[in-house]
Parts: sequence; structure tokens; C-alpha cells
Amino acid sequence: MAEWKKNDRIDVMIEDMSETGEGIGKTDGFTWFIKDTVIGDKVQAKVMKTKKSYGFAKLERITEPSFNRIEPKCPVAGPCGGCQLQAMDYGEQLRYKERKIYNNITRIGGFSEVPMQPIMGMDEPWRYRNKAQFPWGLDKDGNIVTGFYAGRTHSIISCEDCLLGIEENQEVLRQIKAHMERYHLIPYEEASHKGLIRHTLIRKGFRTGEIMVCQVINGNSLPHSKELVERLLEIPGMTSISFNINKERTNVILGDKVENLYGPGYITDFIGAVKYRISPLSFYQVNPVQTEKLYGTALAYAGLTGVETVWDLYCGIGTISLFLAQKAKKVYGVEIVPQAIEDARENARLNGLDNVEFFVGKAEEVLPEQYEKHQVYADVIVVDPPRKGCDEACLNTIVKMGPKRVVYVSCDSATLARDMKYLAENGYKVEKVRGCDMFPQALHTEVCCLIVKA
Ligand code: SAH
Repeated sequence: MAEWKKNDRIDVMIEDMSETGEGIGKTDGFTWFIKDTVIGDKVQAKVMKTKKSYGFAKLERITEPSFNRIEPKCPVAGPCGGCQLQAMDYGEQLRYKERKIYNNITRIGGFSEVPMQPIMGMDEPWRYRNKAQFPWGLDKDGNIVTGFYAGRTHSIISCEDCLLGIEENQEVLRQIKAHMERYHLIPYEEASHKGLIRHTLIRKGFRTGEIMVCQVINGNSLPHSKELVERLLEIPGMTSISFNINKERTNVILGDKVENLYGPGYITDFIGAVKYRISPLSFYQVNPVQTEKLYGTALAYAGLTGVETVWDLYCGIGTISLFLAQKAKKVYGVEIVPQAIEDARENARLNGLDNVEFFVGKAEEVLPEQYEKHQVYADVIVVDPPRKGCDEACLNTIVKMGPKRVVYVSCDSATLARDMKYLAENGYKVEKVRGCDMFPQALHTEVCCLIVKA
């Protein structure tokens, strides 16, 4: 094996991308991680650090740019670090994500064939986020700034127009900054735990056009809030204005208490035909356009005709449950966070859907318990677990219940592949796999799969 020393120069062809967005290439079978490169780049880099079988190198020069390399649209794409794929053409981003799903399913799942359907991308892969949280701070010269934390640090990169966010963010931030300057309100500083103005939370219902602003403060009241409300109401669509109290020394953005300043305390939005009430503290998918496609695919894969009993595990605020309830006889949802279940029940009421029932608890406990005690039945089981995937106790009960269809919605194709393998070894067959790009310009990919009883 070749020996590399710090500061050695290497020539590398970038062939893949890591979980954290570094380009990956090889020299003599040795793997290098190199930041700020894209697949297809030929680069010269300087060795920084080596381990047994891999190392890190610093990009010095792109000797031959990738065919797919483009100029990032956002001026702070590099330092911000939120969009790891901006220098990659969008078509190539989709191919990369699709390949990753395929590779994980074949390598980790051990499948030789993967019935892939084309990944669902966005026609317009910008300004898709309906939610933004901007921190406030002071720059070196004492000017008020807002933007994003650089990488994993706590220094703010000034940016009032994130290209993934809505255009209205800029005007909201301009008004809040003017208000701070006019009334000498000081941005919160983590180190000293002093200053009043913490993050500004902005949300928009894409289908309704309703906008919400919630200002987080390190105090009990927001001075001259009446004037701020007047200013913010000049922005078309402004529906809900509030402040949130967070006096904790924490990097958790929102505190528990919300004080309403204007409007009903929530905005409304739709995914498909289902209506959702969104308050500052409630969870809601950040890319509603792609959410509708993803959950629409889950619904299609469920193959409902109106007579089925469905379990929706890891149901969150019940987005999928309510989607399914429109076409099923009965839907049971299971979710670990009690507040999410409160929202799910509220949303069911709001939509007049009375064929859904929710359980608070761990999927791997609630499902076995219900099965053991009441021999509950399912025609279809939908799972949408967090990145770590499903617990084996949960998969084991699914297998015992023996539904005709399992619809697996995943945000991590590696754990998906592991769980698919388990189901395939226990009488199930993978019938369809389809990626959905919920986060254009960033690394994560969602996948929806149909797994049927063999
Ligand atoms: N489909 C949901 C989102 C799912 S995200 C929606 O539309 O709202 C994954 C969810 O799993 C989160 O809400 C998380 O709180 C929940 N969760 C995490 N671990 C869990 C477990 N062991 N059992 C049940 N739910 C869990």
C-alpha cells in the first residue's frame, strides 16, 4: 500500500459523494474524502490526514471540471453548508440519489434486482421550503445580521435570501431588523446568554398563501410589538404573528410558550385534499409539493379500495394516516411523541375523518402488545420510521400479522435496505421502489417501497 504523508499532492478523480457531502475518489485503492468537489471532477489535492484505509485531502485545483459541475446559484453555498449539492446539475443530483438508493439496496439488502421506478424530482428545485428559522446576531462591527450558522459553528453568515426559502422571508427579516434598530433591541448572544432577539420563525402555507411569523425572544415581552405587527401586516398573506419565549441556555430554537400578537395562532395548508392546521410549535413537512407526491405514491402502493384496515406506524402528525383514511375502512396510527398525536387527532377532526384512531407509544411496543392482546389485523401496514429504521420487534410483529402489503417510506436507504432484507427473508417480496427528492440541493433522499406477501 502506498504511504501518504501530510501535504503530499495527489491527483484524484471524484467518483462518489459521502454522507456529509465530501467528494470521494481513489488512488491505488486508497479512498480520499475531498470537500467542495462533485462527481466527475478531476482534482489536485493536498493530503491533510490519513487513517488505515482512507484519508482527507484539501482541494487545491480542479484540473478538469466535471461535465455536471455548475456555478452554485447562491453566493454563500460554500460556507453555509446547507446545500451540499449546489455545484451539481439538478439532473445529475437526481441520478446520484437514485444510484445511492439502488446501491444500498443491492449492497446492504443483498438484492440482485431492484424494481426501481423513476425518481420524482422537482420541476423547480428552488424556493421549496415552507419553513425557515433565522438566527440574529452582531457582526464584527456591531451591525445586526441574520442568516445561517456556518457549517457546524455558531458564527452567522449573513444571508437574508436563502434560495430554498420563500421570497417573503426577505421582507419579514427587513422589517424585524428595522424594528430592532429603531427600538434598540439587542440580538441574543449564546456565550453571554444576553440579548433579547433570538430566531425568527417563518412558515407559509403554499396552497393557501397564508404566512406566519413567530419571533423567539429571551425575555417575557416583545417591546413595541404593535408597531411591528403593523409593519408585518403590509406583507401580503400575513395571517399569524406571535412571539415565543425561550429563556433557556440551549441551542433548541423554540421554547414551550407562544404569545399571540395577531391572527388565530395558526395558518392552514393542504396536502392533497387534506387540510392541516399549523401552529408555531407543530411539526409539518417542509417541502409540501414533494410530500404530496411521496404520500400520493404511498397511497397508490397501498392499493386501497375502501374495505381495508391499515396501520400507519411512526405516523407523526398523521399526514399519511389521513391521506389513507380517505380510501380505507379504518386506519390506526402509532407515534412516540404525544404532541404529534394531539395534532394528528385535531387534523382528523378538522377533516371530518372519523375512521382513524391514534396510539401514543413506540411502534415496537404498541404493535406487539395490540397483536398479542387483541389479535389486531391489517391488510396494509405503512411505516415511515426515522433514520435508524424499524426495530426488529416491530418487523417481527409485521411478519406475524402478515398483511398483504407493506408500504415502507424511508429517509435513509441504508436502514431501509436492512429492513427489506429482513422482510424478504420472512415471506415478503419487494415489488416497487421509488425515490422522491424532498430536499433538492441537499443530500437527503426519501424512498417509497411496496413490499408484498410472496
Ligand atoms: N409520516 C409522519 C412523519 C414520520 S417521521 C408525518 O407525516 O408526520 C418519523 C416519526 O417517527 C417521527 O414523528 C418520530 O417522532 C416518530 N418515532 C420515532 N421513533 C419512534 C418509535 N420507536 N415508535 C413510534 N414512532 C417513532
